[in-house]
Amino acid sequence: MTVRVRIAPSPTGNLHIGTARTAVFNWLFARHHQGQFILRVEDTDLERSQPQYTQNIIDGLTWLGLTWDEGPFFQSERMDLYGQAVKTLLERGLAYHCYCTPAELDAMRDAQKARGEAPRYDNRHRNLTPEEKAAFEAEGRKPVIRFKIEDSREISWQDLVRDRVTWQGRDLGGDMVIARAASSTDIGQPLYNLVVVVDDIDMQISHVIRGEDHIGNTPKQILLYEALGAAVPEFGHTPLILNQTGQKLSKRDGVTSISDFQDMGFLAPALVNYMTLLGWSPVDAAQELFSLAEAAQVFEIGRVTKAGAKFDWDKLDWVNSQYLHTMPIPELTDRLIPLWKAAGYTLDTQTDRPWLEQLTTLLAPSLTRLKDAVEQAQVFFTPERPFGEEAQAQLHQDSASAALATVLEGLESLPELNAESAKTLINQGVKQLGVKKGVVMRSLRAALTGEVHGPDLIETWLLLHQRGWATPRLEQGRSLTTQP
Ligand code: GLU
Repeated sequence: MTVRVRIAPSPTGNLHIGTARTAVFNWLFARHHQGQFILRVEDTDLERSQPQYTQNIIDGLTWLGLTWDEGPFFQSERMDLYGQAVKTLLERGLAYHCYCTPAELDAMRDAQKARGEAPRYDNRHRNLTPEEKAAFEAEGRKPVIRFKIEDSREISWQDLVRDRVTWQGRDLGGDMVIARAASSTDIGQPLYNLVVVVDDIDMQISHVIRGEDHIGNTPKQILLYEALGAAVPEFGHTPLILNQTGQKLSKRDGVTSISDFQDMGFLAPALVNYMTLLGWSPVDAAQELFSLAEAAQVFEIGRVTKAGAKFDWDKLDWVNSQYLHTMPIPELTDRLIPLWKAAGYTLDTQTDRPWLEQLTTLLAPSLTRLKDAVEQAQVFFTPERPFGEEAQAQLHQDSASAALATVLEGLESLPELNAESAKTLINQGVKQLGVKKGVVMRSLRAALTGEVHGPDLIETWLLLHQRGWATPRLEQGRSLTTQP
């Protein structure tokens, strides 16, 4: 059997992390089985669907590397197909027009609640006579079309994630609306459960892998497959993504859409790697870093967990930092340059290139997110730096003045400042002054950067030296040591 799976987002918002994670699992499943991955945009809700959301979804999937083999298909362009299916169901006597008004339905549900029963449609218009129908039509009532669901039916499937799942027909809320705003001649607006089944049949979907929030739709859809005389695909319901308090991750948790993560400076391969781990792990659970292609090789849908997957920012940061730390320096530099430019830093991509790559090499090990490089690089793009409180305190210490004076003096007779000569200069100062090396190093850092923490000091010094800013800063630092 050819594996054919799909991701079917509704363009009523930006690409959500939950949808993207479902896309990841579908993509991995398709690639693992040399199958097809299809993109279908479920835009039948014309009021809530927006073209910019469709674009955001397409961009997000592309950015993540979740390439699709067919599509995007748009449900809004396939209305005829859904109309045909509704007609077939009506002709087979498996669906019917229901003329209940919203007020009647409300009254029915209130009465059920008052009796302590679960609210449901009581199938009251299942067997209307032609005269009754004509009377409702004459009143101007707009019917919906309902699909018959027998209370006595048991629906059961072997879920790819959750093993056997069984539902009783009586728990499905009565005959289901499959189209709204119909008339005796027009099938009206087809609804989710119907269109999804019609499309999955038409697109020959073999495995429906989707979020657990759809599990209640599956028994209804299985009945529709049967009614339309189609083979039922396999189903797999993936766990929800939860926030730290165990609730479904939602807009209230702040960042939830893929473009937000992109804006925050996460790398696509890192984010997609992390999403793969949200509810799945390879047999070798110690392996946590892999590309999509590597994950596809070992992906087994049966290893997806039933329990909700907690979203863990620390873990995502860790995964992202691993990708940043191992990214080739020229590539990382290419990614940082636009961020530095956007921050207003002056740089010449041509002449400064070697220097920029040197700076990238220095900062890379301490980056967690791409954007961290903006703040961390500030000192290298700002000729005039204020001295922070801690740096001032350091410079006011007894030995700071002598340490800086010795280094500055040594610099005068130094033919060239490089890693080697810089180290020698520091060691000489240490010897001459009889102080601990740390004293000299801390004073140097405070003077050079205005801060007391930062990346490798010698490299920092060399980078600033190449800009022509190191010595003026050391002098400025020294003048501060003598001020009260
Ligand atoms: N359009 C549905 C959603 O965005 C997906 C339906 C499905 O996967 O069956 O949740």
